Amino acid sequence: MTDKFFNNKIQSIKGFYDILPEATPLWFKLEDTVRKILAQYGYNNIRLPIVESTDLFVRSVGEHTDIVEKEMYAWEDKLNGDKLTLRPEGTAGCVRAVIENNLTYNGPVRLWYSGAMFRHENVQKGRQRQFHQIGVEAFGFDSPDVDAEQIVLLARFWAELGIKDVELQLNSIGEVEERAAYRKTLIAYFEKHMDVLDEDAKRRLHANPLRILDTKTPCMQAVCEAAPKLLDGLQANSRAHFEAVCGLLKQAGVPYKINPRLVRGLDYYNRTVFEWVTTKLGAQGTIAAGGRYDNLVTQLGGAATPACGFAIGLERVFLLMQEYGVTAHNAPDIYLVNVGELAEKQAFLAAETLRESGLKVILHAGAGSFKSQMKKADRSGARYAAILGDDEAAAGEMSLKPLLQAGEQIRCKLGDVEKYLTSSS
Ligand code: ATP
Ligand code: MG
Repeated sequence: MTDKFFNNKIQSIKGFYDILPEATPLWFKLEDTVRKILAQYGYNNIRLPIVESTDLFVRSVGEHTDIVEKEMYAWEDKLNGDKLTLRPEGTAGCVRAVIENNLTYNGPVRLWYSGAMFRHENVQKGRQRQFHQIGVEAFGFDSPDVDAEQIVLLARFWAELGIKDVELQLNSIGEVEERAAYRKTLIAYFEKHMDVLDEDAKRRLHANPLRILDTKTPCMQAVCEAAPKLLDGLQANSRAHFEAVCGLLKQAGVPYKINPRLVRGLDYYNRTVFEWVTTKLGAQGTIAAGGRYDNLVTQLGGAATPACGFAIGLERVFLLMQEYGVTAHNAPDIYLVNVGELAEKQAFLAAETLRESGLKVILHAGAGSFKSQMKKADRSGARYAAILGDDEAAAGEMSLKPLLQAGEQIRCKLGDVEKYLTSSS
């Protein structure tokens, strides 16, 4: 029926998706794997608000960035006029929380968080308006081993998830003074190539020329490729830090490619920057990105605290897991079929008894013929149908029929079901 009157269903907003139950087992696998690895490296979870003051992002991410210029969901609160923003990324909020709660009072801390981020972008595969990240941040460490630790942690993560062929790109963007000198060189260089610069690049030429190197515009690639390299002009300290990071990665056997054009899209980074990139997702190839940001804590009003972190783009990793055929299921062990007056009476508590022994049990709720209940048992993906008829009920027993593999139906005491399932798996 196309009649307008009937066509009034409310739909989700462009770029905002439901993650449906069929997808959540794979999401669990992804999230559980990161959680496990983060615990191995001593990172502690922090839970942060989704809404922060707009000023926080303008001051940290930077005024002349894609995020602040055009991607933020920002509004003025109707009641008190506060300027608020749905977080487009997690680092800013995490730094705010560290300062506000004095979290580095007793020394350095390793933190991680996960959740939805919001950016008003052009929607494509791997690019949504609500997306999810796991962010990892270490505060109070200035030595290169923490940069390397975070990169190696990610390598371990890809390996455990079965994701192959991701390339680690690495660069150092030095310190503020080194970038200031480089900025001048770069502006002079681009001024000689104004004819190929797009509108964004022209606008940023004097405000944020490094960001031009990060462009995705095809006709600018050659000019950016040939631009002078910041890495070549680094002073001894920055150079030593970068070499140490590279050295640790070599020792750990994690291959990397130095990409002198890698500058990252946010203003707060210094020294080490890195991205993990795949060729399997088209233009949305970066699945995790981060680096050092030693000046951000002071920039946001805290005491000088070196820091280093990264974020994983979970939707993109999810797509890659599917690409590599990684699967996950959340199937029950048992679908409890119950037919007959006595059986129906006992089924509810029998299911509880089975769950007590640790089994995952779906109780067939509501009546139904044996045949229709068995069909539902098949569809549930359960390993076994546990059949409770009046006969079994009277004897305190159950019949177990394997559903995923060929095998005899057996009958056993309710208390022996768990033992039988464990021995036959
Ligand atoms: P891109 O260059 O793809 O726009 P970015 O540099 O803006 O990425 P970051 O701010 O570094 O991204 O965020 C870290 C990661 O979060 C990205 O590498 C990506 O995996 C993921 N991500 C960023 N924006 C989106 C989005 N709109 N939809 C899905 N994932 C995203
Ligand atoms: Mg972006």
